[in-house]
Amino acid sequence: EKAEWEKLKDEPSVTADGKHFDIAANIGTPDDLKGVIDNGAEGIGLYRTEFLYMQSDSLPTEEDQFKAYKKVLEGMNGKAVVVRTMDIGGDKHLPYLPLPEEMNPFLGYRAIRISLDRQEIFRTQLRALLRASAFGNLRIMFPMIGTLQEFRDAKKVFEEEKSKLVKDGVKVSDDIQLGMMMEVPAAAVLADQFAKEVDFFSIGTNDLIQYTMAADRGNEHVSYLYQPYNPSILRLIKHVIESAHKEGKWAGMCGEAAGDNTMLPLLLSMGLDEYSMSATSVLRVRSLMKKLSTKDLATLADRAVNESITNEDNKKLVEEYLNK
Ligand code: PEP
Ligand code: MG
Repeated sequence: EKAEWEKLKDEPSVTADGKHFDIAANIGTPDDLKGVIDNGAEGIGLYRTEFLYMQSDSLPTEEDQFKAYKKVLEGMNGKAVVVRTMDIGGDKHLPYLPLPEEMNPFLGYRAIRISLDRQEIFRTQLRALLRASAFGNLRIMFPMIGTLQEFRDAKKVFEEEKSKLVKDGVKVSDDIQLGMMMEVPAAAVLADQFAKEVDFFSIGTNDLIQYTMAADRGNEHVSYLYQPYNPSILRLIKHVIESAHKEGKWAGMCGEAAGDNTMLPLLLSMGLDEYSMSATSVLRVRSLMKKLSTKDLATLADRAVNESITNEDNKKLVEEYLNK
């Protein structure tokens, strides 16, 4: 099987009926680029920038960040790179940035909530990104957006830093898409409204499942509730994708589910545009995609969200489909 996958390394990701979708990779540091290129990913769908902060003894400077972002953008040679602004908090902490003790860190001071509150940190990151944007195809997304106001506030800060740089004569791209993670259920429910203002969505199933099922993603005692195929989750995902398309925007997924063989037929059936996963999954998913036909899959998602009741129903539905 591995040898067969290898042959797909330089091929585009297409279905049996010739529809093209992007298979991208998730990275944590510029060192991960080699894996992305070796596995023939069509872009980077999630660059988790918090590792830059976690691997440092103090807040990374604008210059340090600029170098890292530029390296990734240049390394991808014009392919799209989706950089997520820092997602600290929850289970990720920085020794030099004391965060409040919280009863429920995953429901607390995290990601965009910190960035909008500690704007000097956010502005430094955005300036580094803006400067790096001249060296490749940069897209920026904000993590943990729950309300449209948060997205608007983040976008405003971005626009302010952009104008300052332009005024100072710094070269920045004029074509940076601004999107958001879809991982807070409140935002997913209102995806139709968000879609009018964002350039794209990237569905973060790791958190979307955790928050929708009210089950800590790292707690083994409730791991039975981590149900990617639960019709409630699939309805949200379908709504997010359809809402994006209605406004002419694209929708991707960068949570674990994006690289899952059982999920793939469902996501193709819903028309998800971009699939971002660990680099080592890219060729396996490309190979499976090649065997599936979107025409044949047309009604699968409708059955999964309207007729199925449980996670297991849908697992069976897809497995039967794949084995037929
Ligand atoms: C997610 O929540 O699905 C996601 C991709 O982000 P992270 O795993 O970094 O929270
Ligand atoms: Mg997340």
